[in-house]
Amino acid sequence: MRGPKHHAVGIPAVAGSVRFVGAQSGLKRGLPLLRAINQVEGFDCPGCAWPEPDHRHPAEFCENGAKAVAEESTRRVVGPEFFARHSIDDLNDKSGYWLGQQGRLTRPMFLDEDADHYRPVDWDEAFDIIAEDLAAMDEPDRAAFYTSGRTGNEAAFLYQLFARRLGTNNLPDCSNMCHESSGAALGETIGIGKGSVRLEDVWAADLIIVAGQNPGTNHPRMLTALEKAKRSGARIVTVNPLPEAGMRRFKNPQTARGLAGRGTDLTDLFLQIKVGGDLALFSTLNRLLLRAGEGALDRDFIDRCTHGFEEFAAARAEGDDDQVLAETERRTGLTRVEIERLLAMVLASKKTVVCWAMGLTQHKHAVPTIREIVNLLLLRGDIGKPGAGVCPVRGHSNVQGDRTMGIWEKMPDRFLDALGAEFHFKPPRDHGLDTVDTIRAMREGRIRVFFAMGGNFVSATPDTEATEAAMRRCRLTVHVSTKLNRSHVVTGTRALILPALGRTDIDIQAGGPQFVTVEDSMGMVHASRGKVPPFGEEMRSEVAIICGLARRVLGGDDTVPWEDFAADYDRIRDRIERVVPGFDDYNARARRPGGFALPHAPRDERSFPTGTGKANFTVNEVTSPEAGPGRLLLQTLRSHDQFNTTIYGLDDRYRGVHHGRRVVLVNPADADELGLADGAYCDLVSEWDGQDRRAPHFKVVHYPTARGCAAAYYPETNVLVPLDAVAETSNTPTSKSIVVRFEGDSGM
Ligand code: SF4
Repeated sequence: MRGPKHHAVGIPAVAGSVRFVGAQSGLKRGLPLLRAINQVEGFDCPGCAWPEPDHRHPAEFCENGAKAVAEESTRRVVGPEFFARHSIDDLNDKSGYWLGQQGRLTRPMFLDEDADHYRPVDWDEAFDIIAEDLAAMDEPDRAAFYTSGRTGNEAAFLYQLFARRLGTNNLPDCSNMCHESSGAALGETIGIGKGSVRLEDVWAADLIIVAGQNPGTNHPRMLTALEKAKRSGARIVTVNPLPEAGMRRFKNPQTARGLAGRGTDLTDLFLQIKVGGDLALFSTLNRLLLRAGEGALDRDFIDRCTHGFEEFAAARAEGDDDQVLAETERRTGLTRVEIERLLAMVLASKKTVVCWAMGLTQHKHAVPTIREIVNLLLLRGDIGKPGAGVCPVRGHSNVQGDRTMGIWEKMPDRFLDALGAEFHFKPPRDHGLDTVDTIRAMREGRIRVFFAMGGNFVSATPDTEATEAAMRRCRLTVHVSTKLNRSHVVTGTRALILPALGRTDIDIQAGGPQFVTVEDSMGMVHASRGKVPPFGEEMRSEVAIICGLARRVLGGDDTVPWEDFAADYDRIRDRIERVVPGFDDYNARARRPGGFALPHAPRDERSFPTGTGKANFTVNEVTSPEAGPGRLLLQTLRSHDQFNTTIYGLDDRYRGVHHGRRVVLVNPADADELGLADGAYCDLVSEWDGQDRRAPHFKVVHYPTARGCAAAYYPETNVLVPLDAVAETSNTPTSKSIVVRFEGDSGM
């Protein structure tokens, strides 16, 4: 049986970074970029949204950050000659990995109706094509404007303004598929859908619970913060169906101990929970806390700052202790001893931080699970206390900033009022479509124009066959992209690819060199300045693309000064300052080293902008996914050589998987029961509502997953995730708990 490594990072990560940079952008171009990544005068890493410390290390990046930068600054280019060589049918047979390795897009490319090759067009013709299809719509909601989390604040603000000027709130974004459940739960309970901790709080915590998250691959610099906390005496609990190397031991290459020594053990208590068992765990933990006697609860905080404690406590007290614990053991796969050890660690802590990611947010009961975590922290008074709080860790560099800028299909009236007042128009009020609803609308032929600002929509979304078929029902699909991906191959009747500048590219406009701003996972807004000249003259910044298109579509008499915005981004920030709360003196503060923190009332002053004006305890019915006999619960996940749908390589070093991605990790005991030999090939079949979905030709890898649970990479297994399998309230695809059976290998 293969198994996870016992430690993460170390020299292999440094070597891997340099090797990757050398192969893609070359050391001459790449090394200076590594010195600028995440630095005060540098650019923000286009990877995840982990924050920077005030005092940055000269190498303030991780291996996956280096890969993201290398991929963006690659010397390889995809121009007209490439598309002349490759027809759509030919590209359709290529893997996502192959497409991504072809290089940076340099020219606007158009795929006309009935054509089988993209051809180059100039920007004016590209805007004409889009304007023609938008003008042909019988209503604005026949268009949808998707955003991936890489889009900077300035472009995001103008993008939503453009869509709303057109008359639609159809603004699906990648957050719909990741932390929408966090936003929904936190919005209801503490009044703001964002984490309440700063980096200093992680360092100062007594106890850090990391649930449903794999920082070693998805937020690697978080390991540095966890190591620092450990050095200050913190204890760490990891709750995960998989024993991940990154949470076992961290070999920090920025320290002698990490380079030459043993590194730092991180996890004190590993709870190998069954997929989707977190709600049962946290609700039982809260039940035990309520009974833990004197000092277990922060009564003063509960009385002064919360609402609904009595109802919550009564609900948690229901039932017989033994039955509740037995049921919790069944749902979690954990023992009473393990649960009581967790209780003891919580009781011993004066300051607790709970961190989480997709392992909590992509389940049917994701929102109740996160609400139960908030219940835990409210019981202990761990909101608005230094060293304590909620910490949903965002997986894309500006996904939180995009939401702050108005990228949401259901922005509150106060935002739309301010936007309308600032730009003298009536923004649409009916809520628009999120990602899953956009695919449903495409499927029903209700979307004529699909516009994507970055991302790889058809690979990031669930139910691949249904989504690709839905995308093909559009009249026009437009992708603003830096690199080639599958969404450029699965197109509407007509399609456009518009080449954009990346974070590493210098952005010069009429007003001179420009910088953009981003917001990290902890609400810090800071500047990002490109460092290298872009490869192609025809590549444009996201801001310039939106402004050029808006002027063409909305016409010369549109009151929005698009050209002024394109010339000088300070002018965009001046407007953001007047529409979005918390951005006072935006241009000055964005220029400060490290930028500025956005206000967070629960963290800053223990005031809770909820319907009750208090932090809300909630009563959550305990549920968990069930697989049934002869089936397992599959979670889709990333390999270590992957960032979202971008595949950097075919290895997953920390899990001991190499040279391939069509693998399924299965516990040996489950494999024996199911007759799945290690190394054998099989098909995965998901079952939903009487319908089967098949992912063929997966190699079985015996792996120490939690019993009853399997794991495999996306996007290869997104085909198994039914479009209608979504979380309550947040409508997020339940990609972390899919019921699958195993059948004989039908081959590729
Ligand atoms: S931790 Fe995230 S933001 Fe930081 S360098 Fe790595 S990928 Fe980039």
